[in-house]
Amino acid sequence: MTSQKIINNKCSCKWQRIKKSVRKKYNYTCQICGKKDNNITVHHKLPVRDIKMLYNLITIEEYKKCKLLWDRNWLIPLCKKCENIIDNPVKNRSFTEEYTLNKRRIL
Ligand SMILES: [Zn+2]
Repeated sequence: MTSQKIINNKCSCKWQRIKKSVRKKYNYTCQICGKKDNNITVHHKLPVRDIKMLYNLITIEEYKKCKLLWDRNWLIPLCKKCENIIDNPVKNRSFTEEYTLNKRRIL
């Protein structure tokens, strides 16, 4: 099971609550393209797999206790399109460059 799936499934209640507050904080607006969507995806600024490596997360309890995973300052809303592009940086090179510039502003 991937780290993101553990958060989505095993830590579902906590994740739903945090997602909701992050969407609200940014007024349901994608932080890259500015699109508004009530069901906007919430994205970890640091990839979950990196956080997993950094803290050596294995059990569900460890995931739940890891503050960085649940820190709202490290979460941003992104629309499906922008999130897809970020997840496939090689396929979308020119966008990735644009994202890197935007990311400097976000981080
Ligand atoms: Zn977007």
